[in-house]
Amino acid sequence: MFVPETLMTPLRELAVEYDRARVDPAFQEELAALLRNFAGRPTPLYLAERLTARLGGAKIYLKREDLLHTGAHKINNALGQILLARRMGKQRIIAETGAGQHGVATATAAARFGLECVIYMGTVDMERQALNVARMRFLGAKVEPVTAGQATLKEAINEAMRDWVTNVRSTYYLLGSALGPHPYPMMVRNFHRCIGDETLAQLREREGRLPHEMIACVGGGSNAIGFFFPFLDEPAVKLVGVEAGGEGTGAGQRHAARFATGGRLGVLQGTKTFLLADGDGQIDLTHSVSAGLDYAAVGPEHSHLREVGRVAYASATDEEALAAFHTLAECEGIIPALETAHAVAHAIRVAPTLPRETILVVNLSGRGDKDVQQVIAREAAEASRPQQVA
Ligand SMILES: *Cc1c(COP(=O)(O)O)cnc(C)c1O
Repeated sequence: MFVPETLMTPLRELAVEYDRARVDPAFQEELAALLRNFAGRPTPLYLAERLTARLGGAKIYLKREDLLHTGAHKINNALGQILLARRMGKQRIIAETGAGQHGVATATAAARFGLECVIYMGTVDMERQALNVARMRFLGAKVEPVTAGQATLKEAINEAMRDWVTNVRSTYYLLGSALGPHPYPMMVRNFHRCIGDETLAQLREREGRLPHEMIACVGGGSNAIGFFFPFLDEPAVKLVGVEAGGEGTGAGQRHAARFATGGRLGVLQGTKTFLLADGDGQIDLTHSVSAGLDYAAVGPEHSHLREVGRVAYASATDEEALAAFHTLAECEGIIPALETAHAVAHAIRVAPTLPRETILVVNLSGRGDKDVQQVIAREAAEASRPQQVA
């Protein structure tokens, strides 16, 4: 916990209340019913037959978080925390958002319970993600524009923390990834571990054995940690997190791969973890085609899991993610989110190298509806670029 003194008391209160809630059967039952009837759990574990056949190696399963209400895994955490906020008697919910997916999930959960909701969002992101801004407003949330700095996610988190310091008695801060000060990383992980628990049970039923490898994309790290968590004590299962390689991870290229060369230990927004910063500790500018992976720090539990060697981290570039986006759409009839496409890209890379009897599971964290405009614009720009003469 690396926060201003004024936040120590509310964070301790939150940790205490969460510890009570997690062992309270009434809380767990209410959350389970919401996840089932409102969000759409359990999500299917789907065998990607055509992708498997095309790649000619490991059998590929997809965990279909993209089928959840609001289009991604984020609703698992938003519903869990909203029940906690209600339990604590908070009437006002605040959150930060980058691409707008967490803002939409939070506004959805707040609307479901009739709570006031304010979402902080950088003005650059508001422009890029106008559709999600409209969705949040339809859901009754107030979207608060943030103009500081790069006017993206990092600044939106700063602004949300500032609001929380000021209004802490009435307000619950609903943080969107496995990030920030304790107890958020642990709490967010636990609200997402249903992904891994279901995968384990579904694989047992379908295959009667454990997978060889599990792959998930890593922004802050919430979908990955929830997917991996129940498998951490199964050393035979290889776990791989995929970061945003952006333009590439070489010197001078922009990316958001915190574990690649250039990443180092530091403190950002309440937590000590791996991040991208220069020698003076100034946070680097990051880049990814997917807004959800475009952040300079990673959840602290991922830093730990990498340090102890339990989880391996790879990266996929913008170009590889876009290719995977099209491959999955054409091959399986599933348009993935651009974040998710990074995990798919890594699966496409490794599946052909694995024997046919091995099982590989990819967490399909979200669907690509939100990214359609961006892919169109990017490909139009590429098509109109003058061709190089050989
Ligand atoms: C937000 C988002 C991510 C990245 O967040 P994590 O906390 O790393 O899971 C990944 N996939 C989708 C679809 C998202 O919306």
